[in-house]
Amino acid sequence: MKLFNTLTRRKEEFVPLEEGKVRMYVCGPTVYNLIHIGNARPMIIFDTVRRYMEYKGYEVNYVSNFTDVDDKIIKKAIEEGVSSEEISNRYIQECKQDMEGMNVKPATVHPQATQEINGMVEMIQTLIDKGYAYAASDGTVYFRVKKFKEYGKLSHKNLDDLQSGFRALQVSGEDQKEDPLDFVLWKPKKEGEPSWPSPWCDGRPGWHIECSVMSKKYLGEEIDIHAGGEDLVFPHHENEIAQSECCNGKIFAKYWMHNAFLNIDNRKMSKSLGNFRTVREISQQYDLQVLRFFMLNAHYRSPLNFSADLMESSKNALERIVEAASRLKDRKNAAADQKMSDMEKELLKEAQGFTVKFEEAMDDDFNTADALAAVFELVKFGNTNVTEESSGELAGCVLDILVKLCDVLGLIIEKEDEILDKEIEDLIAERQAARKDKNFARADEIRDQLLAKGIILKDTREGVKWQRA
Ligand code: AMP
Ligand code: ZN
Repeated sequence: MKLFNTLTRRKEEFVPLEEGKVRMYVCGPTVYNLIHIGNARPMIIFDTVRRYMEYKGYEVNYVSNFTDVDDKIIKKAIEEGVSSEEISNRYIQECKQDMEGMNVKPATVHPQATQEINGMVEMIQTLIDKGYAYAASDGTVYFRVKKFKEYGKLSHKNLDDLQSGFRALQVSGEDQKEDPLDFVLWKPKKEGEPSWPSPWCDGRPGWHIECSVMSKKYLGEEIDIHAGGEDLVFPHHENEIAQSECCNGKIFAKYWMHNAFLNIDNRKMSKSLGNFRTVREISQQYDLQVLRFFMLNAHYRSPLNFSADLMESSKNALERIVEAASRLKDRKNAAADQKMSDMEKELLKEAQGFTVKFEEAMDDDFNTADALAAVFELVKFGNTNVTEESSGELAGCVLDILVKLCDVLGLIIEKEDEILDKEIEDLIAERQAARKDKNFARADEIRDQLLAKGIILKDTREGVKWQRA
């Protein structure tokens, strides 16, 4: 399995630090609003990376944080006249709901920055003790960038170029810095802001230190993969490397993966341009599986343009897979007792060939677009070769392959068996008859059967009433 490593700018063979295990950290959203479809891109992409690793037999420890202390959260809390905690808790719940809709698996752990302050104070203290950080007289703690000789290795930036750029940008109030390149690890509190005690001042952590600390706590000092959107390469990930490697004396992450940006109607998506779309808005128009399909139909390192047309074609394409699965299922059920003929066994081998194509695409830096092309070849194969004369066994085996490959991509393609009102009424009538005959076992069986399909029965004086759960 090869993946593109931002650190070396090359596709490299994936070799885990520990055999059979993957330790992976993905920078999560700042929770002050509903997530937008740009935030959804890394969620879907790295969830797919995780699913493929699991499919390959790795045990994946997947950590993704919520940044729950930030200027934007504080601003929103002031606007609404509530606490920052209320804002962040609300949007963490909303984010989890969107993740579920997009079939993004919950992380092994979703740490929250505000719950990890002690670890941050500890890491900052170690950096001070080792000479990599210093506290200014107002209590702000800065990282001493020039002391870390490898600074710039991820973003491939040269310290001299950075320095001239930064000098022009120097912000007032930061004149206590030894060097314009130095960045904040801890900042003093302002009135009305959440704060925690520390040896330097009551205050709060800088953004970069949060991820260094949470990654270390939940995954250890060295991890396999660190990921996020490409805007995080500099300064966020560059600063994380500086903090972690200076504190721990070890290489922080072996592979760095970054997704390209999602644009909208060929323009950058931003609040000021008014072309900002939340995942929740999309969910009112489409099943979020369509959004997932749309994201996977492009390479994660290519910019992707969101448009109504592309969403419509994604919807239709996904529908083709769902219909093929439904046809295969019907044939499987209709001919359940028929085994494969020798000719069908040969056909099945051909179908299994699409799994090989799928894996080749995924092994080549998670080329999900090519992996989907292999899925469509399988769909076409199934539509052509599984007919009214096919055995149920062949239909079932082709269906299993299709479901398995789609599951790696996080696409749910099997329609839930929806029970119709008429069938419910018939079963209720049968249950009433069974009760009349004192066949309570059958009556209970029918009640349980309906319950399994989400139908709740209520025996009332006016007769049996039912409702969908
Ligand atoms: P933020 O809440 O801004 O820290 O973003 C959370 C994650 O979403 C980060 O990995 C960002 O890089 C990513 N992200 C934000 N906007 C976009 C976008 N338009 N396209 C792709 N990824 C994005
Ligand atoms: Zn981060």
